[in-house]
Amino acid sequence: MSTSVSKSPAKPAPTRALPVPTPETQHFWDGTAVGELRLQRCRACGEAYFPPQPWCAHCASDGVEVFAASGAATLHSYVISHLPAPGFTAPYVIAVVTLAEGPRMLTNLVGVLPDPGALPLDLALSVEFESVGDVTLPVFRPTISRGAA
Ligand code: ZN
Repeated sequence: MSTSVSKSPAKPAPTRALPVPTPETQHFWDGTAVGELRLQRCRACGEAYFPPQPWCAHCASDGVEVFAASGAATLHSYVISHLPAPGFTAPYVIAVVTLAEGPRMLTNLVGVLPDPGALPLDLALSVEFESVGDVTLPVFRPTISRGAA
């Protein structure tokens, strides 16, 4: 698993909308900052879930714990956006990935051509981390490169 966190030497002001950590999501953002994708898991039923919340998304137990996910995922669905957006160079891929631990996550794909021919469903992906402003975002890259930049 790649745990590299890329940082640019000069840090201009963020040019894209960024998440703001809350008490419920702080563990997630603390994790991405150190190269870990942290999920929560229920001690009562054993299911992992995302997004963060203080009770189990499956059985509502409040006996939950944080753990570091493997970072492995598969492509569940995606759109290729051709619309300009602050901080993004169109076209770019917005994806829903299924994590190896079960939960799905909305994210961006990197290292792959924004072309349906390069984006078969169930494509194997691995997490990477990108620092933007004061936040480190999880993104996903094909585990086996498919002719990407
Ligand atoms: Zn549960």
